[in-house]
Formats: sequence, C-alpha cells, structure tokens
Amino acid sequence: MDNKLMLYNTLSRRKELFVPINAPLVGMYVCGPTVYGDPHLGHARPAITFDLLFRYLKWLGYKVRYVRNITDVGHLEHDADEGEDKIAKKARLEKLEPMEVAHYYTERYHDAMRALGVLSPSIEPLASGHIMEQIAFVQRILDKGYAYVSNGSVYFDVEKYNRDYNYGVLSGRRLEDMLGGTRELDGQDDKHSPVDFALWKKASPEHIMRWPSPWSDGFPGWHMECSAMSTKYLGEQFDIHGGGMDLMFPHHECELAQNTAADGHGSAKYWVHNNMMTINGQKMGKSLGNFITLEQMFTGNHPLLAQAYSPMTIRFFVLQAHYRSTLDFSNEALQAAEKGLDRLMKAVETLGKIKPAATSTVSVDDLQDRFVEAMNDDLNSPLVIAALFDWVRIINQLHDGQQTIAADDLDRLRKLVGTIVFDVLGLRDEKGEEANDLVTPLVEMLLEMRTTAKANKDWTTADRIRDRLAEIGIRVKDRKDGYDWEIE
Ligand code: ZN
Repeated sequence: MDNKLMLYNTLSRRKELFVPINAPLVGMYVCGPTVYGDPHLGHARPAITFDLLFRYLKWLGYKVRYVRNITDVGHLEHDADEGEDKIAKKARLEKLEPMEVAHYYTERYHDAMRALGVLSPSIEPLASGHIMEQIAFVQRILDKGYAYVSNGSVYFDVEKYNRDYNYGVLSGRRLEDMLGGTRELDGQDDKHSPVDFALWKKASPEHIMRWPSPWSDGFPGWHMECSAMSTKYLGEQFDIHGGGMDLMFPHHECELAQNTAADGHGSAKYWVHNNMMTINGQKMGKSLGNFITLEQMFTGNHPLLAQAYSPMTIRFFVLQAHYRSTLDFSNEALQAAEKGLDRLMKAVETLGKIKPAATSTVSVDDLQDRFVEAMNDDLNSPLVIAALFDWVRIINQLHDGQQTIAADDLDRLRKLVGTIVFDVLGLRDEKGEEANDLVTPLVEMLLEMRTTAKANKDWTTADRIRDRLAEIGIRVKDRKDGYDWEIE
C-alpha cells in the first residue's frame, strides 16, 4: 500500500510517515471505556478520533485489526494501585453482581457509539475475560526481575527498570522529578518506592471481584490488561496504540514499561493521543457541575445546555477540530456546528439533483487532492471540512447554472462526496432518518394536550385521547406525577 500518511507519534514527538510492520495488515489498539457509569462527552472524542483513523486506513486499502478493550476490572479510584475498583464499588453500593454493572454500562456505551456513527472495533476484549493472560504477563515480568512480590501483591520495580531502560520515555517525564514530587511511603505501604505501581493486587476481604493467582486471591493492576490483551491479539509489536492524552501518564507509560520489561522492547510503533476537551473553557468534572453524559447531550437535559444536540452535530463538531488541538464545548460552538452540518447535508441532497452538461467548468481533482492531502497530514479533518464547504458553494453554483459539469465528472463528484462525508468522516443524514421517527413527538404532544384537559377537568377529552391511543396500540399509564406510555 503506497500512502503518504503522516502521523504524529507521541514517542518520537514528531510527525512520521506511516509504514505498517506487516502491510497490508495494520494492528491498532485503543484504550476503551471503564464501564461503571453512563458514557459522557469525554468518551466521544477518543472514540471519534480513532474511528476516523480506522475509516481512513481502510479507505487507503489496509486491512485493519482494531482492538478496543472494555475495562471492567482493575481500574482503581486513585492511582493504579490505591483504593477500590470502581465497578466493584458501584456493585457493592447498588447490591449488584459486578458483571451486571459492567454489562449494563457496556450496552449504554455501545448505544451511544452507534448513535455517534463510531464503527464497532474488530475485537473488543474484556479485562475480566483475560485474567489468565494477565497473570502470565505478570509472571514474565517477575521472571525478568523487574517486579517483586510484597504481602500478596506484585509491584513493578520502576527504579530497577529505569536503570536498564527509560521510564518516562513516552510522557517525557524524568524519574528523578517524579521521585522528588511524590509523597514519602508510610509504614503501611507494601511498595518499595512511591513510584512503583501494582501489577497484581491482593484483594481485601470485602473486595468482590477476585481471582486466584500464584501470589494471592486478587485482581490485576489497571495497566496490565492493555499489555496482556494487545499482545494476545496484535502480537508483541504492532502498529498503532491510541488513547486520550489523559491516559499518557501513568497508564500508557506503565503499559509501555510492562511490555518492555517482559519482551525487551516496546509494543506499538506509533503512539497516537487525542487532546482533551473542555466545557465553556473548563475541564469536565463531576465536582464542577459541568459533567455532561451523552444522553444529556442528545436530549438537552442538562442545566448548561440551551438545547438538545444530535449525535451527528457532536460528531461534526469534534471533526471540525484537529484531534491534537483542545476542543471547547459551548452552546454557541455547537449551534454553529449544527448549522454547518445542515448546510453540508443540504448540498449533498442538491448534488443529487444537478443535471450534467456537455463540459465541466469545475475540477473534481481539486476536492480529491485536498481531501487526501489534508487527511495525510496527521488526519487534518478541519481542512477536509473546509474543502467540503468550498464545494458546497460550487455545488450550489452548479445547481443554479452558474457553473457546469460533464456527466462523468458529476458521477465522480457524487461518489467522492459520498466517500468523504459518509465513509471517512462517518456522518449520517439525520434529518432524513428523523422523518421516520415522528411517533414519539406526536404521542408526547397528544399527552400534553391530555394533561391540560385533565387540569381543566375536561374528562371527556382526556379519556378520549387515552382510548384512541389504546386503539392504535399505545398504552398510557397514569402516575402521581404524570404518565408513562409504551407501544404494546
Ligand atoms: Zn489501556
């Protein structure tokens, strides 16, 4: 596959020509969600960024094995080895089996991703389904002498590793600085050094998710799953490792150290990180009151939101920024994205109505070249969108007869616009789909009228609405504070 794709590699801190290890195969691993809560805005950006890369690599002709994990065990509250597993905690608080929590939120995540047009990865392994592989990986690091057992837990010996390799090579941190900045070990700690991190953690008596191991009944450290599962499905060395910039340290740094300790070399050739997003200029956080789930975005049901934003508006908004730039969510910016997307979709529709002429006054190569050039420059999706908008203008001119296009060019243009807009950018025409989804707003409208009738003690009208809905198979159940309805 001959391509000129340049990707920014966090490891080398520069853009590099993308040369796969085993072309035409490409192995890509991306850190997926921790499934203990509803998917939120923070999930949208990495998912869309690596979906764009996945789609573009496929468009270039590669056969991509895209592995995106589900963290359903071992993601701890604070650092990699302190506190309680988040899923176990939720399960304990809600009296659920931990796998019920994980399954429920995995489904919620899948629904949200489908809405955002994010393609399903090739493999989606669960951390809890790969405990044996993780235990074996820990053992390999122990055998190489870069870990130690302490009171039933296993820790990575960062200082020893750093004498032979370079701890901090990915995030650009220096061990001396980390040692200077960390707290002193208290007497209770099993670690030899504050920078060491857990590979395996002995479970406390109340900890539900636990597995037997040579060292204790316990569970793997968070970073271990990605080392074990990427190796299992993509091999010791593979092409791309992706994730959000917030995962670079400690998660990816520790993962890279684990692989290097076990195999003598790193795992991924290109480490790709998307930048973070903010909300009205602030970091998103539960304590800041600006934590917005994707469902809240889609329904507009959050105090910070002026309206609902459709999944495609969010996708288009994310793609309008380069993945390595920060991205600020504000109502103004989202409303502008909504208008822009609408203009683009209208132009796609107009393109279908254009009549060919004998000759062309426009050059389809211009769009083709600008698309490929922008994507090859480290996935510059905002430049792709800028080129599309120039062509929105041209499409309207073609439609008005100010410019002309020959039949074969028109055919090419339609295919190219379809490829860029739908296949690579992954957008959908939601307005077209919405026409088929009129039932919900119509039922809600009738039930609002029924509520008004009841308030006016107009029981005849209220009953009539309920009965007529029942006749067409919609059952209304009154509640103290309103109503529920369902299609029978
Ligand atoms: Zn990971």
